[in-house]
Amino acid sequence: MPYRDFHYRWEYELHSSPEQLWSFVADTNRFNRDAGVPALQPPEGKRQRLRNARRRLRLSFLGVPVEWEEQPFEWIKPSRFGVVRKYNKGPIAELKVLAELSPLGDGGTKLIYQIWARPKSLLGFLLIPLQVGYASQRKFASAFEGYDKMALAEIPVPSEYSSPELSSSARGRLEALKEKLLVEGAVPRVVEKLIDFIERADDFSLARIRPYALADQWSEPRRAVLAACLLATRQGLLDMQWDLLCPLCRGPQESETSLGDISSKVHCETCRIDFTVNFDRFVEITFKPNASVRRAEVRDYCMGSPQRTPHVVVQQLLAPHTSRSLILPLEEGSYRLRTLELPGEQLVTVRAEGAETATARISDRVSGEELKLAPRTTLQLENASDSEQLFILERLQWSDQAATAAEVTALQVFRDLFSSEVLRPGERSR
Ligand SMILES: [Zn+2]
Repeated sequence: MPYRDFHYRWEYELHSSPEQLWSFVADTNRFNRDAGVPALQPPEGKRQRLRNARRRLRLSFLGVPVEWEEQPFEWIKPSRFGVVRKYNKGPIAELKVLAELSPLGDGGTKLIYQIWARPKSLLGFLLIPLQVGYASQRKFASAFEGYDKMALAEIPVPSEYSSPELSSSARGRLEALKEKLLVEGAVPRVVEKLIDFIERADDFSLARIRPYALADQWSEPRRAVLAACLLATRQGLLDMQWDLLCPLCRGPQESETSLGDISSKVHCETCRIDFTVNFDRFVEITFKPNASVRRAEVRDYCMGSPQRTPHVVVQQLLAPHTSRSLILPLEEGSYRLRTLELPGEQLVTVRAEGAETATARISDRVSGEELKLAPRTTLQLENASDSEQLFILERLQWSDQAATAAEVTALQVFRDLFSSEVLRPGERSR
């Protein structure tokens, strides 16, 4: 017996701009946790690669096993994102989510969040209004309110999801380490901010601390923040890790505590490419708190989140022989258009004098003359191939907020503190 579909639509008026909000609202990994969705369970058996970044995922909800195939997220940064999940286990047949952010006259954002759900069984029919209509509605409102504050704050501290209070021994240790850092010559203002950050920021912000990004957020010199993080590592307050990033999706493919342990050849399963380690670009130093001070455990709640590939500004899935017209707000700069499954790429430049309408047509490969677009443009995507394609428009510029291995290992402060770390892959210390 078919059950009726449910549709929910909520509207929020927020103070921060769509650009400020995007990295929080589109971080569906964080959002799913805040919305009370259970963490994902590891896949059963060998993970199979599905076309166009589809994923088979599972979790357990109130003891009921739920399993689904997730389509790739589709988005246009910072205006909209959405996803469709098709369930093969559990009380729901299909779930569709769409979030739209539009600027308000006062600099704020109108956020419209919609969910469509189709029950598979009577249980689903009863559960959807309770779970989505009632419980989620309240959690969503408080999550978005929290993100709005975080987007405007110097230190993103989520209101009610704050990490548990530190134990008195951890607090004592933090105080002692702060004194040591000051004695060692770290910049006092930076030490204050770092200690406060470690104490109050949430696990998602702490699990992968990027010193330059923090410095920019705090309006402090990057070198001072990096040096403080290195000193803090020496003192046992932070742990350092070297993240090896895929040159296409920029996802960390490997993370090691020692540079010498990083393999020199790596494979990315999502992008199906092999690449060679490049210390100038693809290896980034990041930090997390040492477990003796604070445990920052991050579990997976959502795998396809737009925030996992923040350099991708547009991702769209097109059926064979279809086209789609997109109104894009784009920052000036250089971009690349590609699809996940086809070879080739097309360069895209965004400048004030660029075109306000353009077409990108792909057939058996991605190619074509460079597209010159205006910052506000209507781009027609055309899939002239015989199979479904995932279009990806991404910024070419490698984030300058990454403190790369090449840069860090050349610093005197690093060499003084970690002389045994000045190694290349394969040059293991004995
Ligand atoms: Zn990749």
